[in-house]
Amino acid sequence: MKAANGSDDSVVAFVDVNIIDSTGKEPYHGDVLVKGKRIISVGDKLSPETLKGARVFQGKGRTLMSGLCDAHSHMSFNNSETMDGLTNLDIEEHTLFTARSAHIFLDCGYTMCLGAASVKQRLDMVVRDAINQGQIPGPRYLANGQEMAPPDGALIPGITKFVNDADDIVKAVKVMAGEGVDAVKFSMSGDEILDDLRAEDTTFPDDMVAAGSEAAHACGIRVCSHARSDESVVQCLQYGVDIIYHASFVSDSTMLALEAQKDRVYVAPTLNFPYATVHEAQAKGFPVTNSQQTAYTRELDIAIATMREMKKRGIKIMPGGDYGFAWTPHGTYRDLEHFVKLLGYTPMEAILSATALGGEIMLHPNELGKVQPGYYADLLLVNGNPLEDISLLSKRENLDVIMINGKVHKETIGDHPLQYELEKSLAK
Ligand SMILES: [Zn+2]
Repeated sequence: MKAANGSDDSVVAFVDVNIIDSTGKEPYHGDVLVKGKRIISVGDKLSPETLKGARVFQGKGRTLMSGLCDAHSHMSFNNSETMDGLTNLDIEEHTLFTARSAHIFLDCGYTMCLGAASVKQRLDMVVRDAINQGQIPGPRYLANGQEMAPPDGALIPGITKFVNDADDIVKAVKVMAGEGVDAVKFSMSGDEILDDLRAEDTTFPDDMVAAGSEAAHACGIRVCSHARSDESVVQCLQYGVDIIYHASFVSDSTMLALEAQKDRVYVAPTLNFPYATVHEAQAKGFPVTNSQQTAYTRELDIAIATMREMKKRGIKIMPGGDYGFAWTPHGTYRDLEHFVKLLGYTPMEAILSATALGGEIMLHPNELGKVQPGYYADLLLVNGNPLEDISLLSKRENLDVIMINGKVHKETIGDHPLQYELEKSLAK
């Protein structure tokens, strides 16, 4: 797994920390040692000899935990005030914006991001590659392409790759896979933000889902879907879609089918977008029509009940929130708060979904998402205890140290955060 990294022999120690190791164990006090990119020891008190050559962070009881995962990232969403405004940037500015979003995700403690569609085809991939080559700071990133939809099924035409039929989607999937995406995205239902293509409308015919999904898997990449309607969720389950976004409207029989595939499939509800649209957009000066307000209020209520039922059944629910509109700008990531306040998660359960499950959805369950020997050193030193107040993790100023791949991205000495790596390297 690539990502810009610490040099192979650098040794970093976190001493006197409260460790949330994401194995499900209650937190415990101890030290953690990192060598190169990986965690070497967890919990045991480090000897003076070990600490001698190491760079030491004194935890003073602060929390050490894994970096977080956002499973529905749109780094190229440009904090637009409108849907169509997502395309307003020219390619040069848009590339810089996307790189900046990657930086912000990492500044906010997200060391794992799963792309959920790129406004222009190569933005996600270019930024992923630049991160992996160490050119820019950012999380580990699985890149998506433009979202695909049939001619009358686009949510936002300007950001859509149109596909006409089964042959066409196979061709498009192969082209995207050849260009290097990690996943493709099918836009399989409407959305309550639109008047003429609603959340319970289904856009893909069966044969296109089947052919597209089969082609993606044959190319070794995964399939994500925008699927709010019950019928679209059924199609996801029938044709092997790997990651189901939204899944608000799920009938009893679909819930059973989903439960039967709970080891294979992930659901990311992206509650922040409807939540912010219903509760905050107007007050922030962004107009929401009455019909949008009514429709999203209803969907949010239904989605919350659906997710609570999924949680009961052990279906894997991921944080990730569709950030990147003017009323949900990058840097305001707070899905874990929603999991606790809206879905009844304990803070520990919310953290496990963003860390241990994050490592799973990133396809490295034995190397990412836990504070364990042998795992990659993607670590947060948090000022406070997120098990007492999960909202601590929604504010980047509470993250005193951010490490990715053994490399310190951010550090704080006393009350003074040192400049981040990007600013530092630009100043040279
Ligand atoms: Zn999205």
